[in-house]
Amino acid sequence: IKGKYGKHFALYDDKLRGTLLRRQAITDGMETALAKGQFEVYLQPKYQIRDGRLAGAEALVRWNHPEWGLQPPGEFIPLFERNGFITKLDQYVWERVCALLQEWDRKGYPSINISVNVSRLDIYNTDLADVLTSLVRRYGLSPDRLHLEITESAYTDTSRQLIETLGTLRRLGFVIEMDDFGSGYSSLNMLAEMPIDVLKLDMKFIQTEITRPTGQGILRFIVDLARWMKLRVVAEGVETREQLERLQNDGCDYAQGYYFAKPMPVESFVSVLTVQDPP
Ligand code: C2E
Ligand code: CA
Ligand code: CA
Ligand code: CA
Repeated sequence: IKGKYGKHFALYDDKLRGTLLRRQAITDGMETALAKGQFEVYLQPKYQIRDGRLAGAEALVRWNHPEWGLQPPGEFIPLFERNGFITKLDQYVWERVCALLQEWDRKGYPSINISVNVSRLDIYNTDLADVLTSLVRRYGLSPDRLHLEITESAYTDTSRQLIETLGTLRRLGFVIEMDDFGSGYSSLNMLAEMPIDVLKLDMKFIQTEITRPTGQGILRFIVDLARWMKLRVVAEGVETREQLERLQNDGCDYAQGYYFAKPMPVESFVSVLTVQDPP
């Protein structure tokens, strides 16, 4: 490429090529990575706001890549959602979580629940209810130990299949959480129709709105609505004491975020789980 803009085009070209090569490397390496145990489950604690007690955790996957180091999922999950690998990876994460819960039960650790992320593909690709039921059975767990976080954008498709699958899972005893609630896809119709147990408020709302007057009104409205619908409310992305106080004032049930802890390796979480309350 010649002329005034040549250099910029060339730069852009290089950057694009880099991205494409990286994507190719991710796709080429994913199966081996799974087989070699390079995907790691991190856990982020979740607290009951009323009394500050540990209520559970969310499982968040990382890729411990031999060349690139520990990779957060922001880049590889969207790719896996396009090429279908997410279904395999999610099942791996769910199984790892069940194995941990079983191990902790045997050791007599406090009995908590763990939230796992369920991609919308999982709902359509697999017989989700069968997969999850046989999993909890195999590990001797009651289904309510697993909370299933389904992102709000998955609900735009209010197909019978989605409603039926979630309804089945809920009847089986799994706890259904609507993740990223308020991020822009939900409608009141959908909320009325969907079989869910928990609203997980979108992080952006927590971080930008709840300390402003209008946001406070909206928060109060959501919590009231949730009470009326017998749903519990979780706030994620809580980073400051001020945000926590607002949530506490308005009766939000659970909080998760950097204010308490970042997602951590399993061994670190075990210390959080087993720490004795100070006398
Ligand atoms: P998400 O499910 O909405 O998870 C919350 C994200 O916010 C996580 O990012 C978490 O580390 C981050 N976070 C938690 N507290 C705070 C905070 O106080 N401040 C800020 N700025 N961030 C906070 P992460 O781990 O990078 O995951 C990103 C997304 O990748 C997740 O968003 C989820 O959609 C997806 N994901 C992660 N693990 C899995 C998985 O095993 N399966 C599937 N299907 N998706 C996953
Ligand atoms: Ca989530
Ligand atoms: Ca979320
Ligand atoms: Ca999200």
